[in-house]
Amino acid sequence: MNVDPSPLSHLPGIVAALNLGPGERKPLVKALEGMALALNIPAASVYARQYRDQECFELIEFAHWPVRSLAAGSGVQESWVIGLNELGARDWVRLDTGELLVLPEESGRPEVRLAPVRLDEDLFGLLAFWGRSPMDRGPDFQQFLESCLDLLELWISRENMHHEMQDILRAVPIPTMIEDTKGRITAWNPAMEARTGWKAERILFKGNYIHAVPFYYERRPMASDLMMYPDPEWESVYVEFQRHSQTTSGMSLCPNLPGGPIYFSFDASFCYDINHRLKGVIEFITDVTEEREVRRELRRSESLYRTVTDFAGVGIILFSFSKIIYMNKYVAELLKVPAGSSDIQNLQNLIHPEDYPEVLSQFESLFQAPYNPAQFEFRACPDCGSRHYRGFAGLLDFDEQATIHFIFDDITLQKELAEKARLHELRLYHEDRLTSLGIMAAGIAHELNQPLNTIRVVNDGLKYGMEQNWSLSETELLEELDMISRQVQRMSKVIQNIRDFARGDQAQTLHEVDINQAVENVFSMIGRQLEARGINVHLNLDPNLPRIKANLHRLEQVIMNLLVNARQALQGSARTKKKLWVCTGHQDGVAVFEVGDNATGIPAEIAGNIFDPFVTTKEVGQGTGLGLSISKSIMTELKGDMTFFNNHLNGATFRGTLPVRQK
Ligand code: ADP
Repeated sequence: MNVDPSPLSHLPGIVAALNLGPGERKPLVKALEGMALALNIPAASVYARQYRDQECFELIEFAHWPVRSLAAGSGVQESWVIGLNELGARDWVRLDTGELLVLPEESGRPEVRLAPVRLDEDLFGLLAFWGRSPMDRGPDFQQFLESCLDLLELWISRENMHHEMQDILRAVPIPTMIEDTKGRITAWNPAMEARTGWKAERILFKGNYIHAVPFYYERRPMASDLMMYPDPEWESVYVEFQRHSQTTSGMSLCPNLPGGPIYFSFDASFCYDINHRLKGVIEFITDVTEEREVRRELRRSESLYRTVTDFAGVGIILFSFSKIIYMNKYVAELLKVPAGSSDIQNLQNLIHPEDYPEVLSQFESLFQAPYNPAQFEFRACPDCGSRHYRGFAGLLDFDEQATIHFIFDDITLQKELAEKARLHELRLYHEDRLTSLGIMAAGIAHELNQPLNTIRVVNDGLKYGMEQNWSLSETELLEELDMISRQVQRMSKVIQNIRDFARGDQAQTLHEVDINQAVENVFSMIGRQLEARGINVHLNLDPNLPRIKANLHRLEQVIMNLLVNARQALQGSARTKKKLWVCTGHQDGVAVFEVGDNATGIPAEIAGNIFDPFVTTKEVGQGTGLGLSISKSIMTELKGDMTFFNNHLNGATFRGTLPVRQK
């Protein structure tokens, strides 16, 4: 019992209006009886409200002391009824804390004292005492009783709500507290206890804790104070603070919690009492340290990827059917649009109109083969600088929609360099050819000398015969002239071959070519020269050699280089029987030719890089070191290859392979 008995002792009677189930009445009746006896109160009645249905009820007297005569006429007036609105918030607080509430005398109604009745911490009823004897039980008394019961009911529902609120607060996993308008903390839930390590009893109703709650280590008002008494200057002590009409949110650093420093965010909103008067502020606290770290990490990684993509020096675009999802700074600058521009038209504006259909078909091809990224070259629009780009595009699933990831790299310079390199290479071929020609020059004289000699001999013979008046038959004369004509033809063929060789075939067109033919052409130029130097030449040409796709003059240049090298090696060797052979053949779709000699073989010190340019063991004027490197690149160009090995005769054999064209 929380009733202080002293102010009650002078009162003549008690009426207890209770709202109990039958099972709960007994302990209360006992308690009231004890109290009445202790206070020496002459009479007391206990009533309960018994409902007939939802609306309709009657009052049942279920206990009384000590006299039954209490029932006879109370003399209570109608105007004595206590209106609920007579009880203000303060009154409720008093009743809440178990204090007696005195309603002063008013319009003929005597002073009424209301006392809450609590049992096992719960409010069961309200005791009403008033200045007059409650013995008279007239209709006014009935009304008075009813008002008491109304009050009781309201009280109980308020208590229930309070309990429900406590239950909710207990169950809420978010640290929560309520602060009243005086700055007292009135609720501090278990989640809050767990978060702060501070027990509720240490905090609740213990005074103004503005600067003492564990979140604050320095003078700093709580968010609830700032809500109730706005002060923009104080707001600035928070990392974040936003006030709305009914709510406030913010973030602050709390350096001294038991578990270590945290960043916490709070959401606070106003609470009102039943009279819509401001009662306090409820605050929900969330530990956002990790979230903040994650957000920072996210920002950091975003800025990192932006830096990487923006300074990668390549264009990066991410787009779907309808819009550009992302373009890096490189693209935005090229297009002269803001980086966030999502208009898909930008893509068309970027690519040269002549190249656009091809690029589009490359993008479309990604949908047929999603795992095969596309690679292609294109030019930018004249407005975007017309430069050359190599593009890479792949399909990926971004934000649950098919998205094309398109990266492009400026290859204009590369292209220019490649063109320069091509021209340079052409010049080298030409130089190499001239070198070969230089070496051949001596041989050519020999090639031409022989037919010239023959012509001279025939000519001299005819002249001598004329001087001697020899008579020649017409047939004999024609034979002699034929002989001259054949020699002239032979010479012009040699000259033609030399001319072709020297000029090269600038157009680089490929034809169906017979390797044997190339070998024979080269031999027509330098074959005799080899024989004249005592070199025993052996040709073993495959009559069924399939034709290959090549440029005849290039092929001749390769064979010429190999023959010149072999001749030079043989000349420098001490061999008495100098041998040189050329064979051709084919196997497994590959045509092969070999040029071998029995000279010295390839010296070990240059064997590793013999195909590199400018690798030579010859004196200036004798060799440039370009012959083999050019020969190798010609073979590679024709999709073939060239290798070498030191053969069983201790000389070198060079082998060229070329793919046979499949019909
Ligand atoms: P160059 O003949 O102008 O030196 P090459 O690239 O044609 O340039 O040849 C490079 C080097 O390879 C030659 O200097 C020579 O030492 C070696 N070489 C090439 N062919 C033979 C061969 N048949 N026998 C021996 N050495 C060779």
